[in-house]
Amino acid sequence: MSESIPKTQKAVVFQDNGGKLEYKDIPVPTPKPNELLIHVKYSGVCHTDLHAWKGDWPLPTKKPLVGGHEGAGVVVGMGDNVQGWKIGDYAGIKWLNGSCLTCEYCEQGAEPNCPKADLSGYTHDGSFEQYATADAVQAARIPKNADLAQAAPILCAGVTVYKALKTAGLKAGDWVCISGAGGGLGSLAIQYATAMGYRVVGIDGGAGKGDYVKKLGAEAYVDFTQEKDIVEAVKKATNGGPHGVINVSVSENAINQSIDYVRPLGIVVLVGLPAGSKVTAPVFDSVVKSIQIRGSYVGNRRDTSEALDFFGRGLVNCPIKIVGLSELPDVFKLMEEGKIMGRYVLDTSK
Ligand code: NAD
Ligand code: ZN
Repeated sequence: MSESIPKTQKAVVFQDNGGKLEYKDIPVPTPKPNELLIHVKYSGVCHTDLHAWKGDWPLPTKKPLVGGHEGAGVVVGMGDNVQGWKIGDYAGIKWLNGSCLTCEYCEQGAEPNCPKADLSGYTHDGSFEQYATADAVQAARIPKNADLAQAAPILCAGVTVYKALKTAGLKAGDWVCISGAGGGLGSLAIQYATAMGYRVVGIDGGAGKGDYVKKLGAEAYVDFTQEKDIVEAVKKATNGGPHGVINVSVSENAINQSIDYVRPLGIVVLVGLPAGSKVTAPVFDSVVKSIQIRGSYVGNRRDTSEALDFFGRGLVNCPIKIVGLSELPDVFKLMEEGKIMGRYVLDTSK
């Protein structure tokens, strides 16, 4: 079961925001007493990794940084205080690498909101490397028979959209709009939503993404590159507006439109994080329609195990394209251009 651990490994590292993404040899990290050492086999590429590299957000990253927070692999080592894991277990690296577990937020299971949250691929070297460390409490437990490449996107995209759908407070038969439906989070959101019994209208750009989101289970599609009145088109498709909206696009404009098309009493969930954006809602309409606007930030350990359970039962299946770790710069380029359908997953051996 156990494998020998090399001294060095391949990783993609950057020193400056927007600077060179270097594919190079770096030392294999040593796990701290509370950490696992995971041989990362596959890592999804999330739009968050692109934001981190560009420096889009008002929260600095560590530098130099190894990005990545959808790492699926095998436990090959661990610190002395780790309990409940063994060498050879399948483990996942999530955005939330570790939290304090004692603050008022951790106490109530809101671990992502912990002020001391340690973030994979942001404040802690992430999964764009062959060997990565993760806090043993927060590391995700991936079922032994799982396909690790398929499991990788569940660790951020899957958990995040599953939690966002719970945050939308919907019931079976309700309409949910997924804005950004053809991307990594969106393509999983459609599938979680249909598995949870909701009806889906997807918004994204282009006919290709339209066919794609319908294949994944959306009943209706609105093409933001063609449709002149998106608000009316969404209301028409849902007979008066969706009961909930999951905003996973990276567009301020799209987020603000969702305030206008959501059904009275509906819930607008903010997930996508376009740089420097503001959500603006007319007070009159918000009151008279009695809508809610809620932020949703990844998920806790329970959300993670529930999201993985849907995956394990075959209810969600992220459409992935596998390329080598060294090809990360090309993936970022496609992502920036909005050309990715589903998720790109990096094979760390190439
Ligand atoms: P992605 O690039 O794979 O998908 C974004 C999709 O939005 C693309 O398909 C794109 O064509 C579409 N889009 C662009 N403009 C649009 C518009 N005007 N209307 C509708 N769709 C539009 O990105 P992703 O990996 O799915 O991530 C999406 C966002 O979610 C990023 O900002 C990321 O940082 C954020 N995110 C947030 C959390 C959280 O916890 N809140 C977790 C993970 C990711
Ligand atoms: Zn992510």
